[in-house]
Amino acid sequence: MAPGDTPAAPHVLLVEDEAKTRESLREGLALEGWKVTQAASGTEAMQGIGRENFDLIVLDWMLPDQDGIEVLKFLRGTGRITPVLMLTARSTLNDRVVGLDSGADDYLPKPFAFAELLARCRALLRRPAWSSGRLLHCGDLQLDTRARVAVRAGREIPLTPREVDVLEYLLRNQGQTVTREMLERDVWKQPHRLTSLDNVIDVQMMRLRKKVDLEGAPRLIQTLRGVGYQIGGSLD
Ligand code: CA
Repeated sequence: MAPGDTPAAPHVLLVEDEAKTRESLREGLALEGWKVTQAASGTEAMQGIGRENFDLIVLDWMLPDQDGIEVLKFLRGTGRITPVLMLTARSTLNDRVVGLDSGADDYLPKPFAFAELLARCRALLRRPAWSSGRLLHCGDLQLDTRARVAVRAGREIPLTPREVDVLEYLLRNQGQTVTREMLERDVWKQPHRLTSLDNVIDVQMMRLRKKVDLEGAPRLIQTLRGVGYQIGGSLD
């Protein structure tokens, strides 16, 4: 796009059964110059989706007929990759995971400030492709890379920020060997090889494995002696 060109206004499907909330959101989004189509129920939302291609869907979870999850499943069932921001009063981890698992791209708990909703919408619209891979899986392990929450067999795993970084890196390279050199360069951000870090990495990996691969659970993270580490793939 050349400088000075105005991109087409995004077309948003706004799904919310509560009339007052819907109207205020519609007004706010219209003030941004966005084109807004409204739906007051899950059925209306599905009809809209069947009719048009939207740039973004703002989707309330609790709806009178088909709930937001049903709408989401319907949308993804059509093969559409439209980004979806879920709105909901529910805020427990499990609900959030269900929402994201069903194909939502982001999640905003009610009540929220309009500025926050707008910022999330913009972020979703800016994203180059839907396949951001926000949710990464391996077996019964799931990592939400934005919320930075890891869950295995339905239970949250308490991880340090560094452990989340390492786990994300392993999952993004699933089925491939991740060497210490790779971890040093990409996770520890060392431009040059630092053998003194090897021990730190090994200790870190041992701790991470203890947390992820609990007693009795199938082992997900493998150590390839003298080479590195691997999650998933043929070692499953
Ligand atoms: Ca509602």
